[in-house]
Amino acid sequence: MPGTPLLESYAAGRWYAARDEGRPLLDAGTGEEVARISSSGLDLGAMTTYARTVGGPALRALTFHERAGLIKAVAKHLSDPATGIKDELYDLSFRTGATKRDSMVDIDGGFGTLFSIASKGVREMPNDTVYVDGGLEQLGRQGTFVGQHVYTSRPGVAVQINAFNFPVWGMLEKLAPAFIAGMPTIVKPAAQTAFLTELCVRRIIESGILPEGSLQLLAGSPSGLLDELTVQDMVAFTGSAHTAGLLRTHTNVMHGGVQLGVEADSLNCSVLGPDVTVDDPEFDLFVKGVVAEMTVKAGQKCTAIRRAIVPTALADQVVDAVSARLAKIAVGDPRHDDVRMGALVSLDQREEVRKAVQQLRSSAEVAYGDPDRVDLVAGDADRGAFLSPVLLRAQRGAVEPHDVEPFGPVSTVLTYDSLDEAVELAARGKGSLVGSLVTHDPEVARTVVLGLAPWHGRILVLDRDDAGESTGHGSPLPMLVHGGPGRAGGGEELGGVRGVLHHMQRTAIQASPAMMTAVTGRWTKGSPRHDDGVHPFRKSLAELRVGDTIASEPRTVTLADIDHFAEFTGDTFYAHTDPEAAARNPLFGGIVAHGYLVVSLAAGLFVDPDPGPVLANFGVDNLRFLTPVKADDSIAVTLTVKQITPRSSADYGEVRWDAVVVNADGDPVATYDVLTLVAKTWPQDA
Ligand code: NDP
Repeated sequence: MPGTPLLESYAAGRWYAARDEGRPLLDAGTGEEVARISSSGLDLGAMTTYARTVGGPALRALTFHERAGLIKAVAKHLSDPATGIKDELYDLSFRTGATKRDSMVDIDGGFGTLFSIASKGVREMPNDTVYVDGGLEQLGRQGTFVGQHVYTSRPGVAVQINAFNFPVWGMLEKLAPAFIAGMPTIVKPAAQTAFLTELCVRRIIESGILPEGSLQLLAGSPSGLLDELTVQDMVAFTGSAHTAGLLRTHTNVMHGGVQLGVEADSLNCSVLGPDVTVDDPEFDLFVKGVVAEMTVKAGQKCTAIRRAIVPTALADQVVDAVSARLAKIAVGDPRHDDVRMGALVSLDQREEVRKAVQQLRSSAEVAYGDPDRVDLVAGDADRGAFLSPVLLRAQRGAVEPHDVEPFGPVSTVLTYDSLDEAVELAARGKGSLVGSLVTHDPEVARTVVLGLAPWHGRILVLDRDDAGESTGHGSPLPMLVHGGPGRAGGGEELGGVRGVLHHMQRTAIQASPAMMTAVTGRWTKGSPRHDDGVHPFRKSLAELRVGDTIASEPRTVTLADIDHFAEFTGDTFYAHTDPEAAARNPLFGGIVAHGYLVVSLAAGLFVDPDPGPVLANFGVDNLRFLTPVKADDSIAVTLTVKQITPRSSADYGEVRWDAVVVNADGDPVATYDVLTLVAKTWPQDA
């Protein structure tokens, strides 16, 4: 019997071990066998059915907030020192060739992404199962026919097919948005580092936090997986352009309606602005950025800088400075404290990178490093997949740097003579995940960013002012989109709530206001209002209903009110204080009340002053002043409960109120949403 464990898949509610011995997965640094992998005999159809029939319904029975709460609980569990899971993952991660610093990006980065997306899910989504997108469209003159876009959960399965380079982060950054969207996930990690993903999934399953069927693992061959997918399913793929091409032409993608998101090879660039001299801090920032991106994860990052685009006049200095820094990078066994750059993921991967360097050499010379030789501070150069960082300097007009992706510690310096040329060189990458520009000149920033933006999913503008807090060129962030056009795959992940919505179906609903209120759970203008004689400020969240209303008595706004408000606040703008000047104002034709006076008086009209369940007013949204209020006009306000969002983590929740102030003719004077916090029960000890 072989001595290393056979990785198991988690399928249809149980751990599954293949009956054959599987193929070995080797330690990137030592060549020792870590585990074996096989999924022979695994019933992929049973997995997708289980996801759709068990995981999906369980998830969709929860609100966005409840799902986000579970993702947060998973993040806490994985990162809690008491569980020891983080240490376990870090220990095993060494075997992928990653240094401790590399593992931070993968493991802590993955946990941070869970926390961040969970927090966005609670703060920016309703405590509901339907998400209202954008404003209401009035489709008929009378207001009896309206339109509203909504997002709902798809009753399918989200399959993630991941690359080898981020076995933890890659899995978690795709899991969290799919989960909050209400879609169960099947994880298919890249075989080479699947042992680390398997450990993380195993610990999540053991925690029992996630509903059964919402997370499954396929440790082994993906063969036949897409055959099992149907019209409500989706695939999020990260890996090579070659595999992406195979997936794109799968019949279920081409003809079966399976949604495919791709994040593939990307020849990311960093541009050094023409304003920068060797003495500027931006020069060092550029050099440090290139070196960091070449060496973190041994350059096996989809976001790494493959092309350093610099002014011709500075090329020698850039090459010298990058080379000098690379010379200080200690390469070797990632467990060793002095090592700054570990191994590539496998000997095969090292061969791939060497081949890519060979191709690049047809139009570039090696300025630093030897792809066939490396000095190690620790480790076995024959058995481990170690490679020296390699810096190339391209000839003018070189084609290969824009076509060949060396997925390792390799970067090529290219030169430009004008900003147009810099942008043109960047664009020759045919679409990238990320680009960066290092400049301290605002005009350069605007010109280059606008030139680069259509070719990139994310752009970092780095200078002395943001460097201290900058997260760097290569780090995708949970709140910003990750993905790029063209060669980068055309997919989009993350981006805060966008990443969740990406897994959902957007539908335009056309209906009467009352029906729209029923469908969305959010009061729609024109729907019936309920006035049961009890002031809604007397009702706790438990009693309050969408549509509950208070319509105030009218109040006259006098000239004395306007004078008093002007004097009291210091807002003596002429339209409120100078009758002659105000008369010449083409919009007002005389003294008008301050908009803020109107809103303040409206508050005076709608509040119930006694202590009660309304705890605080935390803001106003969408305030518009529509009709001027002149002295002696009368105003009245109607306040209606628009949306109720209980917080699971507090004994209160948010209530959004629709406020409409009208004049004596019934014309709307001001419209806005009032945002309040309201206790779940009242009196609070009830
Ligand atoms: P691959 O495209 O070979 O593999 C990526 C994932 O796809 C793996 O999980 C793999 O599984 C799976 N896969 C392979 N063939 C199929 C198939 N026919 N159907 C479904 N799934 C399939 O990329 P690698 O990870 O091996 O990396 C190779 C290259 O990809 C790198 O050298 C680099 O150029 C690029 N890459 C790009 C990344 C990016 O984010 N832009 C990230 C990582 C790599 P299995 O491992 O079991 O074969």
